[in-house]
Amino acid sequence: MDILTHTLSGVAIGTVVSSFANSGFKNRLKIVLISGFAGAFPDLDAISLWSGFDSTIGDFFNLSVSGEEIYSEKYWYSHHAFLHSMLAGILIAVFLGLTSYMIDIKHKGLKSRSVLDFLKQKRIMMIGFFLGFLIHLIEDMPTPASTWGGVNFFWPSKFYIGGTGEIWWWNNYDIFLIVICVIIINLILPIIQRFVNFDLRKFTVGVFILGFLFATIQIKTRGFDFAYTGHATKYQEFEVKSKEIQKEILGDRLYRIMENLDNKLKINF
Ligand SMILES: [Zn+2]
Repeated sequence: MDILTHTLSGVAIGTVVSSFANSGFKNRLKIVLISGFAGAFPDLDAISLWSGFDSTIGDFFNLSVSGEEIYSEKYWYSHHAFLHSMLAGILIAVFLGLTSYMIDIKHKGLKSRSVLDFLKQKRIMMIGFFLGFLIHLIEDMPTPASTWGGVNFFWPSKFYIGGTGEIWWWNNYDIFLIVICVIIINLILPIIQRFVNFDLRKFTVGVFILGFLFATIQIKTRGFDFAYTGHATKYQEFEVKSKEIQKEILGDRLYRIMENLDNKLKINF
């Protein structure tokens, strides 16, 4: 799926997780931003496609294969491999927690606090990162199998899951719009809560579950099979079809707005 929807899905997770934090606006905003960052994070493994990869990172690690080959292969550092696994999400969340502990020790001199106490206090932020990371992996599962056969969710196991080809790599404007709705509603809820008393957590979770259900229905009812393994032979045809489907779902007017946005963005969206 496209990087913008991934990032915003992380933000949507952040709006849910932050409602569990009994802290001020600044801390809640931090949780939302970290979750959004986590939503984009797994695709860092596409760095091997960067034109300067071979002469820098490839050279440094003395890699015998080119970045382009690495991308489509099934090395642990290839696309959809380690960085698209649950374990990577946990390890990076803990790593970030420890890094923030070190920074706090250096700048605020919190020597008396144990690491565990600190991590416990930062748990909501770490959970936000992990879930933002996780939603990315889930969103990649209905894309085509391509050369990987899904995502290496249970790394170090060699097993790849997903790759069902229910949706195209991008042009999933309907899913994007659902994610945007979840974010907007969950951001408005704390404002309403100032006037009406209700359990914010239950509502943000409920809104997210509803959005997830709607997105799942959209994914399952595309009515077209985008599945392929290896390198796509009908790439252009699938690309066109994915846009046609969007036009049907969104109607001419909304589709035109989304296509305009797509054309303005420098990324595949
Ligand atoms: Zn991905």
